[in-house]
Order: sequence, then C-alpha cells, then structure tokens
Amino acid sequence: MNIVVVGGGVFGCLVSYVLARRGCQVTLLDKDYPGSATSASAGGLWAVGESIGLGCGVIFHGKEGKANIDAGPQPLPREFMEFLMESNRYFPALTQEFERHSGIHIEAEKGTGLLYVIYNDKEQQYASSLLDWLSNSDVDVEEWSSQQVCQREPLMTAEQQGGVYFPGDNQVNPMLLANAARQSATALGAVFKNNTAVTGIRMNNGSVTGVDTTHGHFECDVLVNAAGSWSGQLAKLAGLDLPIFPVRGQILCTEAMRKQTLNFNLSTSDCYILQKAHGEILIGSTTEFCGYDVEVPVENLVGLANGARRALPMLSQSIVKRSWSGLRPGTPDEFPILGPVTEIPNYFNATGGFRTGIVGAPLSAEIVAAHILGLEQPFDPEHFLASRFTKGDIHLPQ
Ligand SMILES: Cc1cc2nc3c(=O)[nH]c(=O)nc-3n(C[C@H](O)[C@H](O)[C@H](O)COP(=O)(O)OP(=O)(O)OC[C@H]3O[C@@H](n4cnc5c(N)ncnc54)[C@H](O)[C@@H]3O)c2cc1C
Repeated sequence: MNIVVVGGGVFGCLVSYVLARRGCQVTLLDKDYPGSATSASAGGLWAVGESIGLGCGVIFHGKEGKANIDAGPQPLPREFMEFLMESNRYFPALTQEFERHSGIHIEAEKGTGLLYVIYNDKEQQYASSLLDWLSNSDVDVEEWSSQQVCQREPLMTAEQQGGVYFPGDNQVNPMLLANAARQSATALGAVFKNNTAVTGIRMNNGSVTGVDTTHGHFECDVLVNAAGSWSGQLAKLAGLDLPIFPVRGQILCTEAMRKQTLNFNLSTSDCYILQKAHGEILIGSTTEFCGYDVEVPVENLVGLANGARRALPMLSQSIVKRSWSGLRPGTPDEFPILGPVTEIPNYFNATGGFRTGIVGAPLSAEIVAAHILGLEQPFDPEHFLASRFTKGDIHLPQ
C-alpha cells in the first residue's frame, strides 16, 4: 500500500514510523512552515496534569496575563485523560525502538514527575476538588505540604502553600522524538521529502489518487493529513471542512544551568517551568488566538518571566538565551482528530494534537494506522472522528 503523509511534525513522523513498521510504503511530504508546533514544544508528557487543568499554567491566565482561577480550568472528559495516560505508556518501548533503529535517545525521562504549586486558598480548593475527582481512578497522585515542597524542591518560593504531585507526568525532547521517528521510519523504508508543499489533491470517483506539490506529483493509495495547524487548509484541497485553528504559544529559554537545578517539572497558575537534559530551563507558555502570526512580542513574555520568578526567585539572576513561538493545532473540544471521514474512503486525519500533541502522538499514530490497515483499535476511536463535529455548530476562535 502506497501511503502519502503530509506534515513532518510529531504526528506525521510517528504515523509514518508505525506504518513503515507494518510494511507499508510511506512517503512523507513536509514544507516546514514557520511555527511548526513540534519544534516549539516544551515536551511535557503531562497526561494527567493537562487533562485536569493543572499542567499548563496558562489555562488559568486571564486577559492581562493575570491568574484567573474563576474562569477555569475544568477537567476534560475522563476519556481524554485515559487516552493521554495510555499514550504516555508507549514512551519506554518507543525509547528502545528508536535507539535500535536510529541511535537517537529521545530523553524521555523517568522520575521527574509534575508538581503543581499552590499559592492561595482558592487554588487549594480547586486542587482538593480535583483530588476528589481523581480518587476513584488509578491515577498516581500525591498531596504535598508546604514543608514537603520546600524539602523536595529547595529553590521553591516560601510563598507556596503546598503542591499536588503527579509522578507519572514526565518529559521528552520533542524534536528528538520527531527526528527519531523519522529516522527509524527511513530505516524501515519510508521516504521523507523536505521543502515540499502540497498544493493540490487529485481525486477520481470520490477517492484521492495523488497530490500536487511544489516538487512534482505524488500518487498514492491513501492520504494522511498530518499538517498540524495547516490541516484545515489541506483538507479544503479535498473539499473537506476540518475545524482546526492555530493557537500560538510562546516560550522563554534560559542559558544552561547546573543539571538538576530543578528536581521536577513545575506548574503554577502563571506558567510552567521545566529543565531540559542539557540544563536549559523552559518557561511556558502563552495561549493566544492570533492566526498564523509567529512573532514573539516581549509584552507577552513578561507574564511568563514574572510567573517563573515568583515560583523560583533565583531565576531573577538567570539569563534568557532565547524565546520562540509555535502554533498548536487547536480543536473545539481539545480532542485530536484522527481517522477516516465519511466523504472520502482513502483520506485519513492525524491532527489536532493541540496542547498535548507530544504526549498524545504515540497512541494517535497507532489509532490512525489501525484505521488505515483495518486492525483492532488500541483505544475507542469514536471520540476522535471528524464526524463528531456538526457543520454550522462550530465557532472557531478569531
Ligand atoms: C509553545 C508550545 C508548547 C507545547 N508544549 C507541549 C507540551 O509540553 N506537551 C505536549 O504534549 N504538547 C505540547 N505542545 C503541543 C504539541 O507541540 C503539538 O500538539 C504537536 O507538536 C502537533 O504536532 P503536529 O505534527 O500535528 O503539527 P506540527 O508540528 O505543526 O507539524 C505540522 C507540519 O505540517 C507541515 N505542513 C503543513 N501544511 C503543509 C502542506 N500543505 N504541505 C507540506 N507540509 C505541510 C508544517 O510545515 C509542519 O511541519 C506545545 C505546543 C506549543 C506551540
């Protein structure tokens, strides 16, 4: 089966790898538009934290960058958390497979965990209600007193009143993950074409027969749309409506600091903070609806910097090395869009990773591959079909 995958982010690379591992002939086409989410991502594998709104500080952000706990967050449906937790379980095996096929170590660290830091009574109340909500699940979670937080994360501010710790929520290097998937797929026979934008989709009798690109025509038996924030535009080329919208996120990165300056991934109502394998500390991230603009306005970074300094006062002395932004492929309900559509039998979506596309990518890729190859599904695929959206009911952010 000759499969064309459009988009070389983490979704496209992992789908290509899973299909190549199952013996398919895969060609991946990528244009590398500015703002690819995978290259901008922090790489948090915060399956539980993100699902219940305690992973990504910005969920609390009000309009002026002030914490706005009244406005949210709400936990996403329980199936979403189960989906991310299941996807998270793929990382240990993928780490080994990728080392074997490509020699790349994806830095999927064990043992760091995610610590949500509580600053005030309102946050404590919210955290307690979430702990109740989690009490009849198999989620690993611990409630830490203020003293325990100080002992275990010594650089933490004395302002904190305690924390909620998720030992299973770790991190990975997102670029290495995509690169390892790509090189592993290549080792298994897949072909990757860079700098190749898909500009048209050819159809015959209601099926896709191939794509036109800036570097010629490619025929295919199956087309996979893994074009991230641009998936809606690609779908349009096949006459389909796909409710995907770009959600800009900005990140600050410090110069490398001593390893284990931080013991945990940290999340607060202002921002999240994590130390990468080479010592840099990432501080993220904003949530902005501004189309395909990938500027990095300083004003939006100030809230992140202040939030990080509030949690870890010693960061006032650190030097910012870089800042950047990327476009999350947003969906109206935060679930990804995976699998077939009713209109075209050999067209498949692999998109909509939104703010959890790195942790969700492994299982997403397995679901898409199972649809294409008619295999048993590893997770109930109904939640992710594009057909859950009704045209006219969807209002995308402007
Ligand atoms: C700042 C930020 C922080 C994040 N942090 C986290 C995190 O901590 N944990 C987590 O799980 N997730 C995180 N995410 C979300 C995650 O990064 C995304 O959900 C995920 O990377 C989406 O991957 P993708 O492959 O769908 O899209 P992308 O990585 O955007 O890839 C899409 C690719 O398709 C290409 N393309 C588009 N149209 C065409 C075309 N017509 N022809 C050819 N190529 C095309 C683009 O150039 C691009 O390379 C973060 C995102 C951002 C922006």
